Amino acid sequence: MAADNNKILTGWGRTAPGMSSKLELPINSDWPAMLKALSSSGVVARGLGRSYNDAAQLSGGSFIDTTIWNHVVHFDPSSGILKVEAGASLDQIMREFADAGFFVPVTPGTRHVTIGGAIACDVHGKNHHKDGTFTDHVLAMDLATPSGIMTLTREHEPELFNATCGGMGLTGVILNATVRMLRIESVYMKVDTIRTNNLDEVLDLMESEDHKYRYSVAWVDSLARGSSLGRAVLTRGNHADLSELEGGHLKTPLDFKPKTIFSAPDIFPSGLLNSLTIKAFNEVWYKKTPRKETGAIHHAASFFHPLDIVGNWNRIYGPRGFIQYQFVVPFGREDVLRNSLELLANNRAGSFLTVLKRFGKSNAGLISFPMEGWTLALDLPVGPANLAGLFDQLDEMILKAGGRVYLAKDARVSKNKIKLMYPHLDEFRKILKSVDPTRIIQSDLSRRLGI
Ligand SMILES: Cc1cc2nc3c(=O)[nH]c(=O)nc-3n(C[C@H](O)[C@H](O)[C@H](O)COP(=O)(O)OP(=O)(O)OC[C@H]3O[C@@H](n4cnc5c(N)ncnc54)[C@H](O)[C@@H]3O)c2cc1C
Repeated sequence: MAADNNKILTGWGRTAPGMSSKLELPINSDWPAMLKALSSSGVVARGLGRSYNDAAQLSGGSFIDTTIWNHVVHFDPSSGILKVEAGASLDQIMREFADAGFFVPVTPGTRHVTIGGAIACDVHGKNHHKDGTFTDHVLAMDLATPSGIMTLTREHEPELFNATCGGMGLTGVILNATVRMLRIESVYMKVDTIRTNNLDEVLDLMESEDHKYRYSVAWVDSLARGSSLGRAVLTRGNHADLSELEGGHLKTPLDFKPKTIFSAPDIFPSGLLNSLTIKAFNEVWYKKTPRKETGAIHHAASFFHPLDIVGNWNRIYGPRGFIQYQFVVPFGREDVLRNSLELLANNRAGSFLTVLKRFGKSNAGLISFPMEGWTLALDLPVGPANLAGLFDQLDEMILKAGGRVYLAKDARVSKNKIKLMYPHLDEFRKILKSVDPTRIIQSDLSRRLGI
């Protein structure tokens, strides 16, 4: 083993720290032997640590730093098919392939995630209603398990493929993946923005018009109440063709070199973001948005990843950190969206970034999160004493509606509820047993939830 040192790790929300020992292993290691050698303490793969809580850490065990595996194995410009090592980040891939006219098929709200992390969490973007999740564009991957290295495709090893897509890194270590990239003419987006007065308005607009846009997302004012409950800023767009650009944009249509302008220092006290500051921010954010704007041209980086402009922005929540709570409920259960916003607003539990999207059909990922319906993500600073109780009430509402919470973000759901939210969990566990009989690969999340 190349290196071994102890690190205190957290997820992006900076809650639940755990000490794990860092391993930097060559990608061509003798994986079955290597993993078996770690059987006493266990091991987990870790990418860029952008999952929110404890999925990429293992207290008292080891973690494999995958970010050192970031080489492009092969790229075919005629088909856009890319084979790349699993520690490469979407940021790196976007920078490297924009010039050639290709973009990642799905991106989460940050580009600083690895290919391995994107597969393990089966991440979704603003285009789920059109394009599904990231793994819907993955053709193949090599997976290292204690039983051997396997090449997975939907045709060959479909069960393990479907368990690995969204399997939270528990089926093995993803070494590389083959991904179908999206062809683009420019890195600019043609964007329509509209402010809605309340939740019903934004839901109606998304339902009736999302089909016209590849990307759609709504920011919701979590503290608005009464007739303004759920007022939102809806942003929808498509990749701009060359014919839609002019001036400077047309001179460098494929220039993707976004910068971080500022990195937040670790000096912010907990409590800086509270219901008062969040209410003030929401008011300004909502009001500063034009009531309606059509056809604005935005760079892809500011459209997809506005938060990436500030490095380490999670520090603004202070040392206590924050919890991101994301759930999905089927269409027809819009009442849950309304009731959850009402519950939080009435209890003055302000969420700084509240994001609503419409999911299309789910895929075959056994414990993949997205299912057809509405998904709402909320960022809540740790602190208010009533937060745990509010989350428990939300869990109940979501479960009753046939929905579920997202494991990549979860910090506190109960084992019993997870079983009910993810009906294929037993099947998933059986597959884990078949490739990793002594369950060497684990995480704090898998231990906490008994997965
Ligand atoms: C600002 C922000 C916005 C986000 N927006 C979205 C969003 O819009 N949609 C969405 O779906 N998610 C979103 N996320 C969550 C994020 O996309 C996922 O958690 C993603 O998995 C993080 O990738 P990572 O490389 O940091 O993985 P890590 O956090 O390091 O790990 C996440 C999981 O992947 C596993 N893993 C990582 N690499 C490998 C590997 N090589 N082999 C096997 N398992 C591996 C880990 O074991 C762990 O279980 C967001 C996160 C942030 C911070």
